[in-house]
Amino acid sequence: MRGPWEYENPSCASVGGDFWFPEKANSKGAMRTLSGTSFEVQMARKICNGCVHKSECGQWGLLHEKFGIWGGLTEADRVIYRKRLNIIVEEVGIANLAESLGNSTYQGDTST
Ligand code: SF4
Repeated sequence: MRGPWEYENPSCASVGGDFWFPEKANSKGAMRTLSGTSFEVQMARKICNGCVHKSECGQWGLLHEKFGIWGGLTEADRVIYRKRLNIIVEEVGIANLAESLGNSTYQGDTST
C-alpha cells in the first residue's frame, strides 16, 4: 500500500492548515479531538471528499495513523472502524517516511 506522500496531486497538497490535525491539547496538556462537526473537521472532510485518493488514504489511516484526518476519517472515526473490522494499527515507519521525503538523517524520536 502506498503512503499518502506518494499520491499524485492529492487535494490536500495545496491546502495547508491546522485542520488536518484537529487534536488539541487542553490546559492540562491532555489531547482531545475536536468534534466531527467542528469547522476544522468539516473543512478537511470537504477537501477529502473531492480527492481521488480518498479511499486509499482512508485505508492508510486505518492501518497506520493515530492522529489527523485521512481520507475524511477522524481519529474517532478510525477507532470505530478498527473495532468493527478488528484492525490493529501497524507501526508507522517514520524513518522510512523521512527517507522517502529526502531526509535520510532522521534518527527517530530519542526523547524517551
Ligand atoms: S483523502 Fe484527504 S488527506 Fe488523503 S490525500 Fe486526499 S485530501 Fe489528502
